[in-house]
Amino acid sequence: MIKKICSLLLLLLLCTKGEGAEKLSVFVSILPQKYFAEQIGGDRVNVSVLVEKGRDPHTFEPLPGQMAALAQATGYFSIGLPFEETLLPRISKLNPSMKIFAVDKGVDKILPSRHEEEHQEKEHSHAADPHIWNSPAEAQRIASNMRDAFIEMDPAGKEDYLRAYDRFSLRLKALEEELRTLFSGKEGTSFLVFHPGWSYLARTYGLREVAIEVDGKEPKASDMAKIIGEAREKGVKVIFIAPQFSKKSASVIAEAVGAAVREANPLAEEWEENLRSVASAIAESAE
Ligand SMILES: [Zn+2]
Repeated sequence: MIKKICSLLLLLLLCTKGEGAEKLSVFVSILPQKYFAEQIGGDRVNVSVLVEKGRDPHTFEPLPGQMAALAQATGYFSIGLPFEETLLPRISKLNPSMKIFAVDKGVDKILPSRHEEEHQEKEHSHAADPHIWNSPAEAQRIASNMRDAFIEMDPAGKEDYLRAYDRFSLRLKALEEELRTLFSGKEGTSFLVFHPGWSYLARTYGLREVAIEVDGKEPKASDMAKIIGEAREKGVKVIFIAPQFSKKSASVIAEAVGAAVREANPLAEEWEENLRSVASAIAESAE
């Protein structure tokens, strides 16, 4: 009841401001960011996502309707994905007043190892691993960057953003602890994935993520042989695949080492629930 009265009062307040009743329009790159932004922005914001469900951020191009919506947006939350590099300047030209906030600011990113760098020499050498959202530790940083961005765009909502952020931050802390318990005693174990979407989770909890994919492509025969050898040696029981990517090589490797193939979506919108279930599956596979 009190909540209802409050929201009625809020509505009244907003309406008296006339156009202030409009929600803050913010774009994000991927669905997990939408989840974070909605936890913090609540009713004050309208969050649109560029890479919609089932689309691959690695080969992403916006739809014409999305460009039109971007032309009207107040803000954009970038997260350090390669496609943003070419797209954001285009959007800025279209909508010069739109503010771009790098919500990956301050995240200690995982840089490619020497071996991977040799592979990447041609195109994007030194590119950091972008999958920062799949760990509660890095999610904390993303969330606080979003909080600050919302306050900057909509100072009238400061108290709301601070309160919602505090609540969400506590939940992230609890999730981080929960996963720490889940992975305790499993430090040093490896898990095999097609696409390396869980490297930050691995780093936080001392696990080792082994990726099949090389440079975002199916591996060569020589890479396959190496991965199969490593998977056998480590006794890998499960190979995790992302629904957005091809799974041909994953099935070949699974058959060769007698492992099961399981889906683990690195881009799910129900971020919290998804992370919990993927983490459980990884922990189970490491038993
Ligand atoms: Zn990815």
